[in-house]
Amino acid sequence: MTAILGSYAAKQCPVVAQNNVLCPEQLLPFPEAVQRRIAQGIVFEDEVLPPLRPAEDGEWVVIDKTAPTPARERATVRAIEDGARIIEGGVLPRDESGGRSGWPDLLVAHAGGYVPVDIKHHRTLSDDPEGAALVSGIEDPDPGKAREIDGFTLRRHRGDALQLAHYRRMLEAIGQASDSSWGGILGTDDVVSWYDLDAEIWTTPAKTNRKRARRTTMEIYDFEFGFRQDIVAAAQRHQEDPGGELLVEPMRSGECGACKYRGVCDPILEEGDGDASLLPGIQYQLWRAMRDQGIRSRSDVAQLHYPTALLVANGVDVIDWLARADGADPGIGVSELWPAATKQIELLESAGIRLTGDTRQLDPGTALLASGAAKAILEARAATGELHAYHRPGVESASVPRADVEVDVDMENTADGVYLWGCLLTDRTAGGGPAYVPFHSWAPMGLEEEMDVFVRFWEWLSQIRKNANRAGKSFAAYVWYEGAENTQLRRISAGTKWEDNVENLITSAEWVDLHRVFSSQFVTGLSNSLKVVAPMSGHAWAVDDPGGDLSMVRYEEAVGGDDRLAIEAQKWLLDYNRGDVEATRSIREWLDRESAYWPVVSTG
Ligand code: SF4
Repeated sequence: MTAILGSYAAKQCPVVAQNNVLCPEQLLPFPEAVQRRIAQGIVFEDEVLPPLRPAEDGEWVVIDKTAPTPARERATVRAIEDGARIIEGGVLPRDESGGRSGWPDLLVAHAGGYVPVDIKHHRTLSDDPEGAALVSGIEDPDPGKAREIDGFTLRRHRGDALQLAHYRRMLEAIGQASDSSWGGILGTDDVVSWYDLDAEIWTTPAKTNRKRARRTTMEIYDFEFGFRQDIVAAAQRHQEDPGGELLVEPMRSGECGACKYRGVCDPILEEGDGDASLLPGIQYQLWRAMRDQGIRSRSDVAQLHYPTALLVANGVDVIDWLARADGADPGIGVSELWPAATKQIELLESAGIRLTGDTRQLDPGTALLASGAAKAILEARAATGELHAYHRPGVESASVPRADVEVDVDMENTADGVYLWGCLLTDRTAGGGPAYVPFHSWAPMGLEEEMDVFVRFWEWLSQIRKNANRAGKSFAAYVWYEGAENTQLRRISAGTKWEDNVENLITSAEWVDLHRVFSSQFVTGLSNSLKVVAPMSGHAWAVDDPGGDLSMVRYEEAVGGDDRLAIEAQKWLLDYNRGDVEATRSIREWLDRESAYWPVVSTG
């Protein structure tokens, strides 16, 4: 019997589908920040539609969401048969043969059937001066009345698109799919943004070094959904016969932190030397290709042949060279094996592979892996080494910019704007400890409020810089990953008298992205996020569970109506931000103190 899967199945980690069969009782609650996000999403869904419903429109049918599912399903079918223009809160008939169930937020009549529209509490459009996006007004979410707006592009959200594809297959199953291939997302931008589910908008990664392919949403959905069905069927067989093979194993991904099965998968991933997927930046295709060769742990990855992986990463087709060398005279130059491949010959020769016989040094197994293997090998060697950090190949002696007057800078923001610029001022010529100087507002965030916080911060920072220069002292401001701060600084100062001054500082050598300084010179085998690197330097945050997600939750409390909660949350946010700026200072001191003793990671 085909298992019935919901609209989230195809977009979720495949191991979720397996765990739903094998260990559904081992679910953990979502982390607090995720619970809060889910609750916000529900409130948004409940609030966005009622004001849009036309007062006298029998064609906009609202299905009672509190009714039992079978009743909602019958009401949805009735509304379709009655030719409703919009059906809100419907339940599509369970698709027994396709194995699907689904609750699209809206069904909109269009081109001989219905198109699905889902409501999501996130933006659907990105600012793009060159772009154009197809949108409808939320009061009339009909793709037939959509218009193209300039200056924006669709934020391609794979999960949203796959959910729409799920509903489309369900509509097809009851003969009610529109002739068009549109699916819409009503997001926080106050429009419905349209996906053409038959357009080739996705690039699928290559397992090895073959070319990537372009795919439509429907193609990706059918593959992913079919895979989940196979996973569930194999898990059910495994339950009846434990000798039955399971199709998937846990792999660490960005989804794990917010997954209810982290209590099941974490112990498996962290066993022994740790799973290869714990290495930073490792992609599924590389992890899978390694798995196929029995390379499972971080120490297995560390033992791969780095020179081979580096040649692959630089574009040398090692597999082809090994095939050409097979049976050839080991004494002839590699250039005779493939004279036209001049660039590759140069790379081989500079790696010491001059004669055909030298190709025996290369490892065919490593050559079969995708080009990301070289990076993974270095990370694995660092992760399984005895030290916290190693110099990258070619970095004999690291350089960390220092100044007489140093200011560590970190900002906190929400979708409404930047409400806090935190600074840690250290005058290294004056002695004494660093001083934490926050600029913030707990008032409702809008453009004026955000500008007020920015101006206070920027004038202070500019004055510190000016004073240092006047006193003949060097000055530097430090951020961890400048992309975030620079984007906000440019946005807020655009068109103001501070614009040039901002540009002048953030493009100068006095504005230091410490993340870049660190990641370009050192390798640790772990993520290079501030929350991971700073503890290696001995830093600890004063608050429990410091993280961007929780800071969003605390910000809502900080500006909420409950005074007691607000005071606690404001203190938490300032302590958290202070911890962030102290963290960058701690990393800088650590690098100065210890990095000279760290060796270069092995490249053998
Ligand atoms: S914890 Fe990670 S690997 Fe396990 S099911 Fe969840 S997302 Fe998948």
